[in-house]
Amino acid sequence: MRLFDAHCHIDMLNNIEIESIRSSDGIFITNGTSINSNIVNLNIADYKHIFPAAGIDPQNAALDNPILEDFLKVIDKLKDRIVAIGEIGIDLFIRNIANRSRQEYVFREFLKKAEELRKPVIIHSRSAIDLVIDIISSYNLDKIVFHYFEGSVDNIKLMRFIENSESFVSVPPLDSKKRREVILKLGIDKLLTESDAPAVAPSPFEVSKSIRLIAETLNIKVDDASEAVYRNGFSVYKIEDYINTK
Ligand SMILES: [Zn+2]
Repeated sequence: MRLFDAHCHIDMLNNIEIESIRSSDGIFITNGTSINSNIVNLNIADYKHIFPAAGIDPQNAALDNPILEDFLKVIDKLKDRIVAIGEIGIDLFIRNIANRSRQEYVFREFLKKAEELRKPVIIHSRSAIDLVIDIISSYNLDKIVFHYFEGSVDNIKLMRFIENSESFVSVPPLDSKKRREVILKLGIDKLLTESDAPAVAPSPFEVSKSIRLIAETLNIKVDDASEAVYRNGFSVYKIEDYINTK
């Protein structure tokens, strides 16, 4: 089974884990969360198995804000080595509500950059999916990956947005009735898999559980699910443009 991890944090793993990823046959998109984590990710990327996305997550958005401008200039310079802008977004889960306006400011700056550079965006939207949809609707984005998707099929506006745009839902290795309903409603062409390791799953290899969840829900073979998701990931992140560029 070939794995495609649309969202993980390889900068937070140890060297043994990184080596096992480099000697696998999977593809892993390592996401930046802070300025420092982006630097580490760019160094870890081998452009065979590990490809970097650059961004600042909502939790760090307020802290990193003073040097945001400089960081956006660095992204311009490194645009040929960054497969996507991420992770970025809004998190209104209890303690982050206070930072809402700064989160939104940083999010919009990255959306502008993604629009300008024609890069896909990897979006974090905890407790904020409707606000995120309102914001991203005003940008002309290449492709949108909803990481750790929390939406429900009952949210008609959200489902319509995903179905009518170049949006993809990234399925974490966690089973729930709500998640199965989304998988069934959207179908394989709209799906990616992610571990969000080490935050959600301890290891990126746990995307195999997301693949099994998709296969079971759609009643297709595990190998067919993994091939389809791999192809989706390869095309969303335009991997062929970056492979072996190091
Ligand atoms: Zn993450």
